[in-house]
Amino acid sequence: MKKINITEDKWKKLLTDEQYKILRKKATEPPFTGKYLDNKEKGIYQCAGCKNPLFLSDTKFNSGTGWPSFNKTISEDSIDKKLDLSRGIKRTEVLCKKCGGHLGHVFDDGPKPTGKRYCINSAALYFKKS
Ligand SMILES: [Zn+2]
Repeated sequence: MKKINITEDKWKKLLTDEQYKILRKKATEPPFTGKYLDNKEKGIYQCAGCKNPLFLSDTKFNSGTGWPSFNKTISEDSIDKKLDLSRGIKRTEVLCKKCGGHLGHVFDDGPKPTGKRYCINSAALYFKKS
């Protein structure tokens, strides 16, 4: 995959304040506030920064955590995973492989068959209805 490299100044212009804080500064949106939390339409969730396809609507489930949750990525090649030890907790950060944007975290308490729970900020996503 061809990675994109954009300066922080340019990201600030391309993204909304909220998207910038999450994608580039690794912030987390408050739970139960994101626009895609209850979205049940069919389509593809893409990276809000670079439109890289990340998740299919079929893999979205209601985790009760307050963030859009998925049990699978479209492809393991669309994301990067990184150990995150901030806030004194061991977590796995999920980043867009194409633009390096912070998307959220992945946990091992998801539903079968994958057992994964990708906990993703709505503001890091762009939904393309199919
Ligand atoms: Zn991206």
